[in-house]
Amino acid sequence: MKKESKDNDLMEKIVSLCKRRGFVFQGSEIYGGLGGTFDWGHFGVALKNNIKQSWWKKFVDSRRDMYGIDAAILMRQEVWQASGHVAGFADPMVECSKCKKRFRVDQIEDEKKCPECGGKLGEARQFNMMFQTKVGASDDSSATSYLRPETAQGMFVNFKNTVDAFHPKLPFGMAQIGKAFRNEITPRDFLFRQREFEQMEIEYFVRPADWEKHFEYWKVQMLSWMEEVGIDMSKVHELEIAKEDRAHYSSRTVDFEFDYAFGRKELFGLAYRTDFDLKNHKLEYIDEEDKLKMVPHVIEPTFGVDRAVLSLLLSAYKEDEKGGEVRPYLKFKPNIAPVICAVSPLLKNKPELVEYANTKVFAPLKAEFGRVIWDDNGNIGKRYRRQDEIGTPFCIVVDFDTLTDDTVTVRDRDTGEQIRIKTSDLKNYIKERI
Ligand code: ATP
Repeated sequence: MKKESKDNDLMEKIVSLCKRRGFVFQGSEIYGGLGGTFDWGHFGVALKNNIKQSWWKKFVDSRRDMYGIDAAILMRQEVWQASGHVAGFADPMVECSKCKKRFRVDQIEDEKKCPECGGKLGEARQFNMMFQTKVGASDDSSATSYLRPETAQGMFVNFKNTVDAFHPKLPFGMAQIGKAFRNEITPRDFLFRQREFEQMEIEYFVRPADWEKHFEYWKVQMLSWMEEVGIDMSKVHELEIAKEDRAHYSSRTVDFEFDYAFGRKELFGLAYRTDFDLKNHKLEYIDEEDKLKMVPHVIEPTFGVDRAVLSLLLSAYKEDEKGGEVRPYLKFKPNIAPVICAVSPLLKNKPELVEYANTKVFAPLKAEFGRVIWDDNGNIGKRYRRQDEIGTPFCIVVDFDTLTDDTVTVRDRDTGEQIRIKTSDLKNYIKERI
């Protein structure tokens, strides 16, 4: 009981920090909020961009067997018929006869009793989670389309284009980062279960006989990326998903679960999609070796950007105590932190300090690293507290000594230690640490 209230506190602290420091806001907040949607502020966008760039660099740019794609979110309804999503992308749902609220059957304890008002729950029925829409002015059923519930199909429907354009040899992969939409019955737990979210997915095409080897390989790759970005690996657990719980397209699934503050739940997943999708789209591949037509099998490592952010926030959030005051800070790795360093003149009403800080420190660092901010708001103590909460690894302060000896103070986020270094050494000092 005690642990639960402590963990609820942690989620509250993180949600409030995200709002206060401009990471994440509730979607449509000024109109009362739209459940399962969030808007990303300046530092949240920076954090997400760093995560996506790190992923793209590792899985696309540094490899020779990977082809990127950015497919349209709207696709013809035939895509979702062939993929099995129109018929099968549904969760069992129950409705309360008293308060009319709806719940996912697998998320409530008692299938008969409403968890909110205690009313009687009706019979479970399947609820398709795809958002339906109409394309163009026509109202007939041929105009029906869906917001994609996974980025994967955008890759399968471009399989032939990719093969024709780049002539890849097996094994090879396609990678995509983009939005996905699911009309979740009960969005909850901040960024964990949303209706609009972002995925980073790979479809890796292999010879059928080799699927197990590649499955094991991708498991290792996924874990190594998680560690690289700074997810607390002691909180990551592998879970083999039982046949009856797997998605309709998967013959084997391993989930990587994370110990969130609200429990151990899925972070990312790895699925063996066999030839399910390519076959249903009537696509094939001509093997260069034996000139025979075949349908490759697919290993799919899938990552949610938003769950990556949430697990990173939970991994990085720390508190320490100095002089009876609690100091919260985000211990992000410098390559992932939204801001690498903040530059301040000790006093903002001293033009000589401002001039030096601006021209000799801020401008060159900004040109070099981009993720550098100017912060002259409030006193130095307040600036440090703010930057600690943003997760900025270094704060640089220009003071009166700077004007005579060309040295500045660099303060370390994690230890609070301050050292003086030459202004001309700043770039190298930071470079060595990112
Ligand atoms: P869950 O069982 O939690 O509903 P899932 O198994 O349906 O998830 P996948 O279809 O495997 O999820 O989706 C791939 C990834 O997309 C997940 O590992 C997760 O990181 C992310 N994801 C899925 N649904 C959501 C959501 N509603 N909100 C945020 N991220 C999501």
